[in-house]
Amino acid sequence: MNILFMGPPGAGKGTQAERIVQEFGIPHISTGDAFRAAMREGTPIGLKAKEYMDKGLLVPDDVTVGIVRERLAAPDCEQGFLLDGFPRTLAQAEALDDILEAMGRKLDHVVNLHVDRELLLARLTGRRICKTCGATYHVIFNPPQQEGICDKDQGELYQRSDDSEEKVGTRLDEYINKTAPLLEYYSEKGLLRQVDGEKEIGTVSTEIVSLLRG
Ligand SMILES: [Zn+2]
Repeated sequence: MNILFMGPPGAGKGTQAERIVQEFGIPHISTGDAFRAAMREGTPIGLKAKEYMDKGLLVPDDVTVGIVRERLAAPDCEQGFLLDGFPRTLAQAEALDDILEAMGRKLDHVVNLHVDRELLLARLTGRRICKTCGATYHVIFNPPQQEGICDKDQGELYQRSDDSEEKVGTRLDEYINKTAPLLEYYSEKGLLRQVDGEKEIGTVSTEIVSLLRG
């Protein structure tokens, strides 16, 4: 089962990914982890990536693709994988097709966790922090007993500027604009599986699993 997993920040992608890999006994491959592993093991492509990162430079596409190719060729991916965070562009999507084709494999499903932009905004802007003790709350998921006030010391709660509606909105729009062409690419190939990520966590997991077992 070769799965690509997509979804915007705040959609609960990490939680769902963990459940799917447990259910199917396949590794969860995030590009961040793949980079760290390649550098730690000092593979040629890992060393190349390290050169760029040590200089504070953006890692070029061919190096990123090389890291993914190396990771997918590892023995633990023989029964499948869940890929997360790659591809981010059409060029990378085509590179991924080439990698898999060279291995005599292909993607089986591209799961996209869909959550309405307004709900994502609410989830991602809801964090509040106590000015006195630094305790964190969330206006939806973990609200204080009294609005705007810390339960522990009655300190005033504030919102970090990174969590402002403006900044989060910009981040979301960037994600949506960047991934739209990818969703279309996989839709045309008949691989795209849209999942409603607004439901309760367990319900979403059950739906994804039954869709993949389809
Ligand atoms: Zn406090």
